[in-house]
Amino acid sequence: MSTLVMKFGGSSLGTAVALKQVLGTVANETGNWDQILVVVSALDGVTDMLFEAAQLARIANQRGYRRIAANLRSRHLAIIEQLPLERPDRDTLQAEIDRLLSDVLDHCRSIAQSLNEELSPAYSDAVLAAGERLSARIVAALLRQYEIRCSAVDGADILVTDDAFGNAHPDLALTRQRVEDTLLPLLRSDMIPVVTGFIGATPAGETTTLGRGGTDFTASALSALLDADELWIWTGVDGMMSADPHEYAGARVIARLSYAEAADLAYFGARLLHSRMIAPLAARRLPIRIKNIALPAQTGTLVSAAENDSAPAIKAVTSVHGLSLRRPASGSLAGVTRLVGNTLFKTLGMRSEVMIASQSATSSFICLVIPTSIGIDGVDRLQRALEAKMAEYPQKMPWRIQTVALVTAIGSNLQRAPRLQAQLLGCLQGVEILGLALGASNCSFTIAVPPSEARAAVRRVHELIVKSD
Ligand code: ASP
Ligand code: MG
Repeated sequence: MSTLVMKFGGSSLGTAVALKQVLGTVANETGNWDQILVVVSALDGVTDMLFEAAQLARIANQRGYRRIAANLRSRHLAIIEQLPLERPDRDTLQAEIDRLLSDVLDHCRSIAQSLNEELSPAYSDAVLAAGERLSARIVAALLRQYEIRCSAVDGADILVTDDAFGNAHPDLALTRQRVEDTLLPLLRSDMIPVVTGFIGATPAGETTTLGRGGTDFTASALSALLDADELWIWTGVDGMMSADPHEYAGARVIARLSYAEAADLAYFGARLLHSRMIAPLAARRLPIRIKNIALPAQTGTLVSAAENDSAPAIKAVTSVHGLSLRRPASGSLAGVTRLVGNTLFKTLGMRSEVMIASQSATSSFICLVIPTSIGIDGVDRLQRALEAKMAEYPQKMPWRIQTVALVTAIGSNLQRAPRLQAQLLGCLQGVEILGLALGASNCSFTIAVPPSEARAAVRRVHELIVKSD
């Protein structure tokens, strides 16, 4: 019994043309596998728009959130207008789009009336979930039109999560039961479930989201629970790249990555993969292919178990936001790391990972990564929350908090490559280095720099990668 899970990211779902490519891709694979499961993100840019609607609702800007809901309606209707759907299906779909967007307005109204200063992540999750609910219905309707038997499935009915709204974590044991009760019967009767990514629900049924980019996480959890043979991630770029292709011309596709490299790459800012998705797949040695929906014949990137003999090499460079804390005294870091950990969890639903900690006779320095999965305003929210918390203990917590950029070189066996490390530091001549660390997986070498120097640092490390092969 062969099983393929395919995830379609927002950038492979933005337009009618892209959606037809999705249709072609699924149609092509139906003959090759016994079972196929599809997981979809929201259409490109939709989650950002929904987030903005929730933000506007928070400041009771009714015109603002209504305008966004109206834009979302016209965008989704325009897309289904261009798809080859029969009249009754188009009408059903249109009614569903209207219903989902009227739910969005209801949730925005509740946010506006709640008078909370901060946007509660539970409320914003209820708003954000609409994006994937819309796209899953559209994809399912399109596939059905071509006589591909399928059914849109709400991730909230499958993924049971904790209540860390905005960044929830699935409980795999509870989720397994739902997979067996709901997805397996569909798959066994030759149906393709089209599951909304990114969304789960607490055991009490409240909608949660898994953090930005969380559709990957849905796809990986379901691949693991179904014991799939492969997971394919369809996106709008050619694969995992040596640097962010939107910012650095000359970025190239990486043909192969180990699970540890892929996990570090995602953790340190490559937005293409959600960092928490790798572990469930690595444990099962389940291969992941990342491919461009527009160029399906290209091989893309394969993430799989490492080849043992691979020589040390830098494959990619990333940059991600971080926060640094500095105080003019040395001493135990236990108190402050606990405070940071608790604040991080309360504000963003994440456990903290201190990246770099160093001390001298007269000062202490700590630096932590802010993963991209927390969304655009996460760094700000965390910095404000930390400053407020520390202000409660001015004597004990005289820390100065600053944003930093963490520039990371990713590759294998970096611990055994002092020459490479020296080359890395050498190419950063003139850049102010605030701290550095070799990652525990030996796949990453991270340098903390002032945010204004991040671009130059990434560019130089990338030149080194290009030169070295
Ligand atoms: N739509 C969500 C986001 O944009 C989840 C995803 O795309 O993976 O973050
Ligand atoms: Mg998305």
